[in-house]
Amino acid sequence: MTTLAIIGGSGLYDFNRLTNVQHHRVETPYGAPSDDIVEGELNGVRLLFLARHGRGHRLLPSEVNFRANIFALKKLGAEKVVSVSAAGSMREEIEPGHLVVVDQFIDRTKGRPSTFFGSGIVGHVMFADPVCPSLAEQLFAAASGLGIQVHRGGTMMVMEGPAFSTRAESKLHREMGVDLIGMTAMPEAKLAREAELCYATLALSTDYDCWHESEDDVTVEAIIAVITQNVNNAQAVIQQLTEDLPQERGCGCATALDTAIITDREVIPPRIRDELKPIFGRVL
Ligand SMILES: [Zn+2]
Repeated sequence: MTTLAIIGGSGLYDFNRLTNVQHHRVETPYGAPSDDIVEGELNGVRLLFLARHGRGHRLLPSEVNFRANIFALKKLGAEKVVSVSAAGSMREEIEPGHLVVVDQFIDRTKGRPSTFFGSGIVGHVMFADPVCPSLAEQLFAAASGLGIQVHRGGTMMVMEGPAFSTRAESKLHREMGVDLIGMTAMPEAKLAREAELCYATLALSTDYDCWHESEDDVTVEAIIAVITQNVNNAQAVIQQLTEDLPQERGCGCATALDTAIITDREVIPPRIRDELKPIFGRVL
């Protein structure tokens, strides 16, 4: 049975369509993940759900323990990860309420631990294409099949936050070719690649960033209505995805570490090798 993990962002704190539900409190070498991981079944797929900010939304983007989250999901057997993220739109055509299956990121986060390497293991994974092409295609197909407004491809800038951009920054980001702005897809995507997980982001456009003239008149009610609709759409897309999810992983994600590790195997500390077995065990 394929194991699909869902990391839920703002608004998506649980996934109540599962059967055979179990809760896992996982400890990792990096500490605890954002919350318990909920395991269940949906359409013959084993599904793991993790609320990125914790249930009740307790963690700032900067406070999310991304390494613990990815480590815990991998330890529980995840092969694929769908990351659901609320985002601001930098393009007129990406309207609030639209979904985007992004394919590129620009990392503007600051000081977040972003690798499982270090402590005696040096390695570099390929990251030119940070999103799994197969999983992204399946996500897009699921959303379009439901008649939801969805865009295929796009560049998401990931900023540190928690404050939103200044107007000058927002205009600059548009000139840089950014389509969406968010706060959490990095370093999540990098860590997923190092953990040899297929990773794709389903971005939920909640508003136009402050570059757009209409932003001055936005009401809280309007934003909440959009978030509610987005979360319902994201749940429907995930349900549809599980109906058609192939067992095979026709992509290179599962072998991302084949040529990544440079350190001489002889000098890798046994304790680290042991601690990081869920991540590096296949190649060490
Ligand atoms: Zn993949």
